Amino acid sequence: MGTDMAAPGQPRCASYDAIVIGAGIQGSFAAYHLAQRCKDTLLLEQFFLPHSRGSSHGQSRITRSAYPQEHYAHMMPHSFRLWQQLEDEAGTPLYRRTGLVVLGPPGDPKLESCRRNMGPDNVLDAVTLAQRFPGLRPRPTEVALWDGSGGVLLADRALRAVQDTFRRRGGTVRDGEKVLRIDPGAVITVTTTAGLYCAPRLIIAAGAWTNAVVAPLGLRLPLQPLRIDVCYWREKEPGSGGSVTPCFMATGLPYAPHGIYGLPALEYPGLVKVCYHHGSPTDPEERDRTPPGSPRPHVALLSNFISSYLPGLEPQPAVLESCLYTNTPDEDFILDRHPKYSNIIIGAGFSGHGFKLAPVVGQLLCELSLGEEPSHRMAPFAISRFPAPSLHPHPPHPHIPTSCHPHTPASPLPHTVCQPSSAKQPFPGSTGRRFASAMEPEQRGETHSLRSQVKCFNVKCAILLSLDRSHLMKAH
Ligand SMILES: Cc1cc2nc3c(=O)[nH]c(=O)nc-3n(C[C@H](O)[C@H](O)[C@H](O)COP(=O)(O)OP(=O)(O)OC[C@H]3O[C@@H](n4cnc5c(N)ncnc54)[C@H](O)[C@@H]3O)c2cc1C
Repeated sequence: MGTDMAAPGQPRCASYDAIVIGAGIQGSFAAYHLAQRCKDTLLLEQFFLPHSRGSSHGQSRITRSAYPQEHYAHMMPHSFRLWQQLEDEAGTPLYRRTGLVVLGPPGDPKLESCRRNMGPDNVLDAVTLAQRFPGLRPRPTEVALWDGSGGVLLADRALRAVQDTFRRRGGTVRDGEKVLRIDPGAVITVTTTAGLYCAPRLIIAAGAWTNAVVAPLGLRLPLQPLRIDVCYWREKEPGSGGSVTPCFMATGLPYAPHGIYGLPALEYPGLVKVCYHHGSPTDPEERDRTPPGSPRPHVALLSNFISSYLPGLEPQPAVLESCLYTNTPDEDFILDRHPKYSNIIIGAGFSGHGFKLAPVVGQLLCELSLGEEPSHRMAPFAISRFPAPSLHPHPPHPHIPTSCHPHTPASPLPHTVCQPSSAKQPFPGSTGRRFASAMEPEQRGETHSLRSQVKCFNVKCAILLSLDRSHLMKAH
């Protein structure tokens, strides 16, 4: 869908109600929610789908209710409901319930916060732990918590399901199109390697590439892409006590300060996925260019863990893959408006734990873009929580008219029936293409003057928000 617009002598611009950059799990869910609210939405992706260059590929992701931070613990019941809704719409299972063990020394802050948020009845005694998780050998002093809601999200299948549902709701996915340029304004123009698109609202969910996308908009966020070693470990005896049945998270290990997690064999028969929840700083373009033989300190750390906690697994990984985290200093997400262009919304910094929450993240990004009251408290996700940015003294401030923020009420129904696209065509009987002459004259004039202002702004103010790199990893 989309309609074509062009000022005289200008290239044609296909017009949408909303554009989303990035067809990872977060951008795809944002687009899905927009389409659910009958917004004609374009989802742009630089690579051909499906791809494994970002953060959302692979067969499995852990989901759980156990969260140390209250704000995520509060969001999880909502997320479970939305995953269930997608399963129903897609007609395919996306979640396997296995339960999850959280393991750590008593007094460990993360373990104790999980215990507090989960309530008092979730501590496993040693006998029950051994029954549920015969392959796991914790230290006698360690505490184990049980999260019965924990399990595995079938990641690749989920990504496909959300994109397919988005398309069925009338959404457009254009893959293999890299966004090269964004011209902000009341109507935002997005230039890709293949075309020109316009919309009154834009959501940027570009994963590890976010800073590359927002830099020309005068913004630099404290995001650190990390290359993650994704390790799979072979059972010494197939089907033996080495098998990891529930998922687990181990916290408070002195040699693994960011924690270790594991999932039952899924990707590869007989190979259990156990990973360190951290990685090495990287450029997303360089992720797979590690020279052979480079040291892999996190693999050594995992081998050490496997030897003592999971002795039924071979202590050398059978398969080693790479993935990307994009971390913020506090490992909380960024879900906010661009500080200067309020119709540009940014979702980033999912810090290796964003998959399970993607349905809620997508809803929040959609709500922000439509000017709706967000369903959850947004303070933990605000850009302004980071150290004082240096602002350009007099940056031009494009006026975003209220008409760009229709306060569409949230749909009371989980499935909103949208008008067929033909009913939305401005010229019945036409191909649905609308040209610039059909735009409000003020809108056209304003967009052009804003564009020249913005060009000037971009030259004068290369960095609107710059953050000292020393802040970047201080939480780690
Ligand atoms: C190994 C690993 C294990 C994980 N385990 C868990 C887990 O157990 N539980 C959990 O909840 N989370 C987990 N996560 C985290 C979760 O997978 C991520 O938080 C989530 O996938 C991030 O999604 P995203 O959409 O932000 O990023 P991405 O999936 O990277 O999507 C961003 C997209 O934007 C596109 N893009 C970028 N720039 C442009 C441009 N200029 N033009 C067009 N397109 C562009 C990219 O190509 C990419 O497809 C894990 C992550 C990894 C790597």
